[in-house]
Amino acid sequence: MNTIEKFNKNVMGTYGRLDMVIESGKGRVCEDEDGKAYIDFGSGIGTNSLGYCDSDWVEAVCNQVKSLQHTSNYYYTKVQADFAEKLCQATGYSKVFFGNSGAEANECAIKLARKYSFDKYGKGRHTIITLMNSFHGRTLCTLSATGQDSFHNYFFPFVEGFKHANANDIEDLKSKLDGAVCAVMIEYVQGEGGVIALEKDYVSQLYKICEENDILIIADEVQTGVGRTGKFLAGDHYGVKADITTLAKGLAGGLPIGACLANEKCADVLTAGTHGSTFGGNPIACAGGLAVLNKVLSEGFLEDVAEKGKYIRERLDELDEVKDVSGLGLMIGVELKTKSAKDILNKAMESGLLVLTAKEKVRLLPPLNISYKEIEKGLAILANIL
Ligand SMILES: *Cc1c(COP(=O)(O)O)cnc(C)c1O
Repeated sequence: MNTIEKFNKNVMGTYGRLDMVIESGKGRVCEDEDGKAYIDFGSGIGTNSLGYCDSDWVEAVCNQVKSLQHTSNYYYTKVQADFAEKLCQATGYSKVFFGNSGAEANECAIKLARKYSFDKYGKGRHTIITLMNSFHGRTLCTLSATGQDSFHNYFFPFVEGFKHANANDIEDLKSKLDGAVCAVMIEYVQGEGGVIALEKDYVSQLYKICEENDILIIADEVQTGVGRTGKFLAGDHYGVKADITTLAKGLAGGLPIGACLANEKCADVLTAGTHGSTFGGNPIACAGGLAVLNKVLSEGFLEDVAEKGKYIRERLDELDEVKDVSGLGLMIGVELKTKSAKDILNKAMESGLLVLTAKEKVRLLPPLNISYKEIEKGLAILANIL
């Protein structure tokens, strides 16, 4: 039996997988079982932020695995302390909780927001408003938070206490503030929803209204965070800082991690016994995360990400088939005039380039340290297909 047959016989079919077995990777290029090479413009959905097997990252992870792979969170580890300190310093947040995924980070944010409100106002003020077309995860609670009807099937009953408002429509948001709202949860750039950035004016009005009503703002930066948009947090483009920010995807360079960051107002809401995770803050994941932060925060790195994003956008804009290019930094959505994104994804793969889709768009999330040479090569393949 070949790998794909064996896989499909034994692994649940929850993904529409592509017929390709990735065997190894180095830098921004990976190889399949037959030795065919692919330039990766997808980074495992924005997760391999430093590409494949970056040597400093490998060294940090290997050193950690050789000394301590795991301990329960009833003890302290230096690597979690170091990572938490660096992450809080980089983001300006007071404290962090570590889980293992984006959905878990968002679950933590939701629990935190509800307890903040409960502690201050008592029962009943528990509604969380999220935006239409958002994506917040696959657990029952984060599915309930996700503002897309197509996700609200089969698994009834969903978690109560979520309302969905139209993005960039401040009146719709206001109409949903009925006194029972404890938080508003947003993605600055909706990723799965089609790589669509929120309007600046909407974000500043939203912040103002929430501040006036002691409604917490949760920024789901699971996809936009850790340098993806050319700033460490996408909120930095808007000049705002949410009460709570969640990170995951690119945070540890491809190791499972999730982080829920809270400002001073919320940092001590979750107390002993109110939340936890067996694997959360795992030493290996933290070591990988530290290696990512060391690179992403090094001088000029984020400026480079922004420059590369600008360059790719300009090049894409020149193509006849491209109708519109959306997103921020190296989070890029490409709307096409006539061709189907899914078709382009398949053709690109045949030609040795990995891309993603989001709704009807081609989505690019290249590794943050991609070189101009690799960008050229990938764009040439894409231009040829388009
Ligand atoms: C991917 C994603 C999630 C879910 O993360 P998982 O690690 O798959 O649980 C949540 N929010 C956003 C914005 C995402 O892009």
